[in-house]
Amino acid sequence: MASSSPDAPDAPWTRTRMAALNAQFEPHGPEAILNWAVHTFGDALAQGTGFGPSGIVIMHMLADLRPGTTVFYLDTDLLFPETYELSEDLDAQLDVDVTRVHGGLSLEEQAEQEGDELWNRTPNRCCFLRKVKPLKNFLADRRAWITGVRRDQSEARADADILSWVPRYGVFKINPLANWTQKEVWKYLFEHDLPYNPKHDQGYPSLGCVPCTEPVDGADGYTREGRWSDTDKTECGLHTSPGQADESQTAAES
Ligand code: SF4
Repeated sequence: MASSSPDAPDAPWTRTRMAALNAQFEPHGPEAILNWAVHTFGDALAQGTGFGPSGIVIMHMLADLRPGTTVFYLDTDLLFPETYELSEDLDAQLDVDVTRVHGGLSLEEQAEQEGDELWNRTPNRCCFLRKVKPLKNFLADRRAWITGVRRDQSEARADADILSWVPRYGVFKINPLANWTQKEVWKYLFEHDLPYNPKHDQGYPSLGCVPCTEPVDGADGYTREGRWSDTDKTECGLHTSPGQADESQTAAES
């Protein structure tokens, strides 16, 4: 491949190259994007997932493209029992390395330091302690982070790029399903006979921690509905910049 190509391994990571790669990826399917990612970043790449439908599609593709790829999840100690069971099923079924990431802070220690049920009072602080901080530590020695973010999941995600640089974590972020729809994801899951979280059949479009996730009646099409439904919070902070996050969270991170 010519050195002027945005694909060239020795090409500098300029904004121009990133824009060219995004334009190049846009008409291609997720397998082509993931293929580029595994060849570009190798062992320094990891997929993060909460075992939602998009994450499972990506895990299945990675197991084929690069068996043994690290697929990590953030264990907040507050996930649904069905989510933990699904993680074990997928670990047994797919040739990827399912890795638990935990911040080391038990729920009891958090209650002692921050008070009981922090998620009810300052959910951004709780998400920072149980998700953002552990993620940052885990990604410190990685170069690329694959996620299941899709543009049709919420207004906040509607402009998501396929490839971006995340200064906060010092990694490239790859959203191979950015331009897929919910329907395409479920079609892939059924066609490949993949397991999924049974809570999705019980009215939960999106699954996070138990205290912050509710079933949704008559969902209006955004698949992040049901998360922090009594607040204006829509993201746990993993996919937002510190400037977009809660002040107390930002201060705590620095
Ligand atoms: S989703 Fe809720 S319980 Fe989970 S880390 Fe965030 S605030 Fe805490």
